[in-house]
Parts: sequence; structure tokens; C-alpha cells
Amino acid sequence: MTAVAEAPNFTALEERLALVACGENSRPGKTRACDSCAKKGPTLIRITSTGAVDALAAAICGTGRAPACGDCQGKAVRMIRIYNGEAE
Ligand SMILES: [Zn+2]
Ligand SMILES: [Zn+2]
Repeated sequence: MTAVAEAPNFTALEERLALVACGENSRPGKTRACDSCAKKGPTLIRITSTGAVDALAAAICGTGRAPACGDCQGKAVRMIRIYNGEAE
């Protein structure tokens, strides 16, 4: 894998975000999002890139509209941090 200095590794980031959205702690040792969450990856990364916590949380929650539950809001905040390369 070649490291690109400026653009983040989009696919890896997409998988990472999908995993957080899926609930990485829902079972021990889980390292991949389920198929349905993985499919949402492109949408999730697009919303994450805008930094819109409410919209992202709603997308994770599956309702598509705010307010999302606290669980999904927490995931949204975390995903935006990951996207920005901040400490998790
Ligand atoms: Zn899932
Ligand atoms: Zn939720």
C-alpha cells in the first residue's frame, strides 16, 4: 500500500467509519462492519466530511432525520474525530 501524503486512504477510512457506525463494541474482536453498514460507508464518509454531527447521527440511527439517539450522536462525534485525524 502506498501512502499518499495529502489525501487520506479513502477506502480504509470508509471501512473504519462504517465499523464505528455499526458498533465496533457490539461483539468482542469485531473488526469489520456488517454488510448493511459497509454499504452505507460512502454516504457516511460524505456526511462525516461536512462535520454535521446531527445529520451524521441521523444517518447512523437509520431515521434519516434529527434528533438521533444519544448512542448514535456519540458515534457521529467519534467518526468526525477519526475523519479529522484526531485522537480517538
Ligand atoms: Zn452494522
Ligand atoms: Zn441511534
